[in-house]
Amino acid sequence: MPSQPGSGLEHVAGLRCLICGREYRPDEVEYVCPHHGNEGILDVQYDYALIARRISQGDLLHSTDYSMWRYRPLLPIRADAPVPPLLVGWTPLVRAHQLAAELGLKGLWIKDEGRQPTGSLKDRASAIAVVKAREKGADVITTASTGNAAAALAGLCASVRQRNVIFVPQSAPPAKIAQLLVFGSQVLLVRGSYDDAFELCLLAAQEYGWYNRNTAYNPYMTEGKKTAALEICEQMGWQAPDVVLVSVGDGCIIGGLHKGFRDLYHLGWIDQIPRLIGVQAAGSAYLYDAWVNREDVRTKPPIEAHTVADSISAGLPRDRLKAMAAVCETNGAFICVSDEEILAAIPALARGSGVFAEPAGAAAYAGLLKALRNGQVRADERIVVLVTGNGLKDVQSAMRSVEQVGTRAHVVEKTFEDVRRVVQQFNRAKESSSV
Ligand SMILES: *Cc1c(COP(=O)(O)O)cnc(C)c1O
Ligand SMILES: [Zn+2]
Repeated sequence: MPSQPGSGLEHVAGLRCLICGREYRPDEVEYVCPHHGNEGILDVQYDYALIARRISQGDLLHSTDYSMWRYRPLLPIRADAPVPPLLVGWTPLVRAHQLAAELGLKGLWIKDEGRQPTGSLKDRASAIAVVKAREKGADVITTASTGNAAAALAGLCASVRQRNVIFVPQSAPPAKIAQLLVFGSQVLLVRGSYDDAFELCLLAAQEYGWYNRNTAYNPYMTEGKKTAALEICEQMGWQAPDVVLVSVGDGCIIGGLHKGFRDLYHLGWIDQIPRLIGVQAAGSAYLYDAWVNREDVRTKPPIEAHTVADSISAGLPRDRLKAMAAVCETNGAFICVSDEEILAAIPALARGSGVFAEPAGAAAYAGLLKALRNGQVRADERIVVLVTGNGLKDVQSAMRSVEQVGTRAHVVEKTFEDVRRVVQQFNRAKESSSV
């Protein structure tokens, strides 16, 4: 059911329930399908013929808007909707020549989402949340988060002085909690898991009428995240990559990438949709297990999630339907990597490319190494690794990662003799490694 004329959302053809397929007008439902409760996640449907009349690849060539809003006609917002001033999107797509050479690959690119204003890809979704909440005139926006979605919402709200209430597990890395407090959010540290925080946040939003940004509940978050896929294609000259690797917790990012690539495919701007490879941590491998064992994710019970990669720790991935569709419909795969592999990937990626990732960001690179070993990715393919979050988000894990590979700093006395002693050690180490 299309949006009403004059609403400014004529390009939004409807919101379709992933379970029953019913379609609603955007003004008819707020978040989920009324027939399916919290499980009835909605997918935004577009009128691509109308969108094609409003934006072309040529327009983008001349666009000077180097942010996610350059794709505004492809987003579920009005053409004149005010957007937050904090610059989100258009992150670098780095050609990783050195890593590619080491791995024997023809083409490897890293999309560096650590360069977002609050340090993770979540800024793309939170930016949309702020626009939609203001459209509704909401007093308060709320979200549950493992940390990054909250930091993103906190930063974007601060940029427009919007009140917000955040639910995060008490175990979230201190840097992420610091971001929330610095941005002035009201913060509830939940003595429990992300899954517990999520349930509490839903209840609070219902009780107090707060605008709800929760992933895989608010249908518009996928639409913000899809802009990463739009950028990847534009940055590669509209030659879509063969394969994209991304870490997966709730599954909203991988679902968003799928959506972005499908949008471009429907518009005829790309002629293939990349295979999507979802990388999960061994201790939080709900979707990997379901994919390997062909389990139905509508009925598979939650697992107990534990991993060093806090951003992908999810016992019940909230966007599991979209994530499974992203992998299955693109002939992709799920891959599972251990915490050791994730930690090892932090310095490996940083030393080979200069990109410092938090554990969940490095997990995608760990996944690439495994996919190459398993033959799931070929050396002659055009490969994109989506690095979802900045390494400074979790310094403790970064320090563990370098300990694991035996890198340490040298403490010196404040004398040049002591410097000489250490430099001699460097030189000896260099000689012994070169023989
Ligand atoms: C949220 C997040 C992910 C996982 O995204 P999902 O949508 O939960 O699958 C991966 N990496 C980082 C850094 C994140 O913040
Ligand atoms: Zn439904």
